Amino acid sequence: MKTPSRRQFLRNLGAAATAVPMLTIFEANADGVSSARLNEDDAAAKALGYRHSVADVDVTRYPRSKPVNGVQPNCANCVLFQARAEKEWGGCTIFPGKDVNAAGWCSAWAAKP
Ligand code: SF4
Repeated sequence: MKTPSRRQFLRNLGAAATAVPMLTIFEANADGVSSARLNEDDAAAKALGYRHSVADVDVTRYPRSKPVNGVQPNCANCVLFQARAEKEWGGCTIFPGKDVNAAGWCSAWAAKP
């Protein structure tokens, strides 16, 4: 049996070191689709006042985030939310390729019919 060279070992080590952070950034959801969670500091997220929890939204700046008739607007009841089997996170047509939190909110919120 041939012993791997030192160069091959270092090459494999480098590949593994690169793969581990990628696994923490992307996670496969229950549907087997890999996606990244939207970062609240993303420019588009900031522009729309997105927060992972609607409780963290500045209601003075975004009064539409307040409950209406006892119903709290959030991503889970937004028409643009694309729920998956794992209900806590899902896609959003406003932020393609990113997942938003079901308990989150942004100023593009629109009630499900
Ligand atoms: S558009 Fe709707 S689902 Fe998307 S981030 Fe805003 S509130 Fe959440």
